Amino acid sequence: MRKETQSQNIDELISDFSRFYILTILYEGPVHGYSIINQFKKRVKKEISPSLVYPFLQQLEEKGLVIHTQKPVGEKERKIFELTEQGRELCTGLFKRFAELVAIAIEPSMYVCAHCGCKVYEGAYREVIEGNEMAFCCMHCARSYKESKKLAKQVKQ
Ligand SMILES: [Zn+2]
Repeated sequence: MRKETQSQNIDELISDFSRFYILTILYEGPVHGYSIINQFKKRVKKEISPSLVYPFLQQLEEKGLVIHTQKPVGEKERKIFELTEQGRELCTGLFKRFAELVAIAIEPSMYVCAHCGCKVYEGAYREVIEGNEMAFCCMHCARSYKESKKLAKQVKQ
């Protein structure tokens, strides 16, 4: 029983992730429904069911977040979906919130360059300066840092 509810929760989570991902695809510009499915597969390396995509698009449309236009492709009429202004606003807010969440996970492995102050995610350039291990974004910043330290010392003397 427990296992069942657990896997159900995971399914729900994944479907939420799928919806989130559909929004990122829509955010890039007008897109066919089948193109959403293809792009999803390519990027997430996972199949997504049309039975998830189309009802979700319909829900978005009912809420005024998405509009569709019909365009003939070959012999068929295809629907092209597009975010409305309101839909874009919702996405921007959503992505920002998500970025903040992700930052919590990334922050501990992020370094701030001691020279220019830019943030480096993994692979910081390290050097021991006056007994302290310092992190820089690149060796050039490390050199500039050392030079400015030297200069500061000369000024003091
Ligand atoms: Zn730097």
